[in-house]
Amino acid sequence: MRKISANYIFPVSSSPIKNGILILDNDGKVKDLIDPGKDAGELENLEVYNGILVPGFVNTHTHLELSHLKGKIPTGTGLPRFIHEISRLRENEKITIRDAAAQGVKEMERNGIVAAGDISNTDISFPLKVNGKIRFHTFVEVFGLKPKEAKEKVREGITFLNLIKEKFYHPASLSPHAPYSVSRELLAEISKYINTNPAPVTFHNQECMEELEMFSYNKGKLKSTLEKTDPDMTKWESPGISSLFWMLGNLPEKIKILSVHNTYTPAKDIETVCKREPPVYWTLCPGANLYIEKRIPDINTLLLYTNNITIGTDSLASNHTLSVLDELITLQKHFPEIPVEKLINWGTLNGAKALNIDKEIGSFETGKKPGINLVYGLDLQNMKLTKETKVKPIM
Ligand SMILES: [Zn+2]
Repeated sequence: MRKISANYIFPVSSSPIKNGILILDNDGKVKDLIDPGKDAGELENLEVYNGILVPGFVNTHTHLELSHLKGKIPTGTGLPRFIHEISRLRENEKITIRDAAAQGVKEMERNGIVAAGDISNTDISFPLKVNGKIRFHTFVEVFGLKPKEAKEKVREGITFLNLIKEKFYHPASLSPHAPYSVSRELLAEISKYINTNPAPVTFHNQECMEELEMFSYNKGKLKSTLEKTDPDMTKWESPGISSLFWMLGNLPEKIKILSVHNTYTPAKDIETVCKREPPVYWTLCPGANLYIEKRIPDINTLLLYTNNITIGTDSLASNHTLSVLDELITLQKHFPEIPVEKLINWGTLNGAKALNIDKEIGSFETGKKPGINLVYGLDLQNMKLTKETKVKPIM
């Protein structure tokens, strides 16, 4: 049994407790949470830390198989050029890709991440996602703009899903890449599968202004970049509505959705989509947004309508680290008024809810085994994360 205390404990499911004490069994399961104001008294073998204790972080959006692209793409290129660079650099030896992905897993562990939603286009990273400290949910990503290839693309995706089910035993689901890279027919095939195999679905949403231009006006740099790689794109016709509405309208209504990036999502889209039930989880990857587009989503508008926000690191192709805490520090820097309690909620329990694992992790509640992170070097006086703030997993 371990008894652990710090300046504050953030259970996430309830308010922070000053000098609280966490009692855990040898397995790391929460047995009790003591508020010393109520249950004063000396405890034997109490470990006391300087900082705040928070549950293990949940990274709801990453691409382990792009880890080998760390530092290969310059910052601030904008999404169209970034896409071009990714497809140019992707062809690397399998062994290099797997080694870099394994380093990525280790980096996430060091940064106190206990669960991750990982996008896979190949099976290279599958063996890395079993028997480790991190619980993975693999989003097998499919894309393709040619309607006649839709069935085949989804069949390939299902082959990967079956491989995970039979050999690598972790949760997985089928997900479309982004509005600009899938056909309506492909979404129909994906929906058919999801309807009989319900699980969370994710997609990249409104990551650049050009995506909005393409969907509303059938023009712009994203469209011309896609036309260069796929001549069929010239036949693509804009639906004349927001890409987010188009995606949601072509996917099953009753599934959980993680909409990733939302860098340019307009207020009217946010307002409408926040009425959806089950809710859309807004996955923010501020590090990647700054890397590619030098911009951060309109979080103030988002907060007017919802708190269903989760955190993703995206991949090392478009970020400097794989750390949920670093993403939260970036958000705190740009939005100093957001309470730390809220940020921690996005990086823990909300992510666990989005990935359907909140019964086991995400908060300090009796019976859960959420992992424990010591977050230290923050401004405790004003309770703010600063650039000196660090994380150390202690369980
Ligand atoms: Zn991504």
